[in-house]
Amino acid sequence: MRKDDLFESVRPKRLSDSAVDQILNLVSTGQLTPGSRMPPERELITSLGVSRTSLREAIRILETLGVLRVVPGRGTWVREDYQRPSLGDTLAWLPNHEHDVLQLFEVRETLEVKAAQLAADRATADQLISMSMSIQRFKDAVSDADYEGMLAADGMFHEAIGAASGNTLLAEMLNGLFSLVQSTRKALIAIPGRPEAILREHIAVMEAILSRNPRTAAKAMQTHDRKAEEAARTAISAGHVVGAADVEKVSKEEQKEV
Ligand SMILES: [Zn+2]
Repeated sequence: MRKDDLFESVRPKRLSDSAVDQILNLVSTGQLTPGSRMPPERELITSLGVSRTSLREAIRILETLGVLRVVPGRGTWVREDYQRPSLGDTLAWLPNHEHDVLQLFEVRETLEVKAAQLAADRATADQLISMSMSIQRFKDAVSDADYEGMLAADGMFHEAIGAASGNTLLAEMLNGLFSLVQSTRKALIAIPGRPEAILREHIAVMEAILSRNPRTAAKAMQTHDRKAEEAARTAISAGHVVGAADVEKVSKEEQKEV
């Protein structure tokens, strides 16, 4: 299926129908650019003509879709890595196309294994520091049962590896793929035991890169991606890959077990 078709098939007839559509419209027409800060809540409620509840719901959905980044207590930004073409794919695929999501995982694995291999040769000191900081942040988030924090730290880790590959094209492709699987990542992290496993897997990748061993790094990354894919398959067959709206609920229910 071509990207344009996907986008057309999900584009609402009237863009003013919901807060989600209105914000998407602002982003896709460039009135809100990647990296820019969203106006304050009160202003948005007035200008979009929506209720506080639907605005908050819209922001949460757009965060899950990888369009917005919410920093509690500070504000909301259009993600600087937000790429317009990915949006149609995200909207069209995630709710009902688990099979496509799994295919994305496979592509991601191919690229990430290569990135990890190259990173073992090319990572700079700064990139190694970013990787280990992301692991520390992930660890802290696990002990706080902070799922948003885990997702952010996971993203930071993979971004650092993409950058450390020294191949800009590869890094960009990985960032694009990452934003396509936001919703799935959010669902997967809510599976009991998965956060601790992710932490162990990240440490294994990091250690191989630190010891400048490309083969071990590639293997460790493959293990990490396969485990994620396995978790996705299991969750899908058990009917656990939930819609964005259910994720928070699941996270809260599982919190005590993590
Ligand atoms: Zn990861």
